[in-house]
Amino acid sequence: MERLLVVRGDITRERTDAIVNAANCSLLGGGGVDGAIHRAAGPRLLDECRTLGGCRTGEAKITKGYDLAAKYVIHTPGPVWHGGAHGEDALLRSCYIESLKRASENGCATVAFPSISTGVYHFPLERAAAVAITAIRDYLAVHDEIEQVRMVCFDARTEAAYQHALDAAEGL
Ligand code: ADP
Repeated sequence: MERLLVVRGDITRERTDAIVNAANCSLLGGGGVDGAIHRAAGPRLLDECRTLGGCRTGEAKITKGYDLAAKYVIHTPGPVWHGGAHGEDALLRSCYIESLKRASENGCATVAFPSISTGVYHFPLERAAAVAITAIRDYLAVHDEIEQVRMVCFDARTEAAYQHALDAAEGL
């Protein structure tokens, strides 16, 4: 089984042990993939999120998945793009690493990620894809407990960027 895959789809339909939410720091829901995950998981997700006291950018907190097929949702606020000289790359890398740590701690063997920060947070897509693929590969290299990570891309342009980053990394 390929341990890192790029696929096109709607992350709320994933049957992985955990799906990752590109959240905001309030953890109280928003638009984009965050709104879609809350709609699909049902109101109990927001009830649990209210108990968490928010989350800092680049960190990650886990909840149950409620009405989703996934057992857990891992919420991570990505960095807002401010030109690239404000630690954006390191913060984005941290989102992927910290999310995978929550997965490992909670016995998740399969994890699905959306393209964190490339929607309303405006992180440049190609740069985000390279950071994401490198972070996930680095984590998988030293964490056998994670069997598969799926990068779930909502549109063709996003899928192409992540597939290109994956192909480039595998050529190393
Ligand atoms: P951010 O605030 O981190 O930029 P967004 O939700 O605005 O987050 O966008 C992140 C990515 O999630 C974008 O590529 C967007 O197209 C994608 N997206 C939106 N809805 C879904 C979904 N249901 N499944 C997977 N990806 C989604």
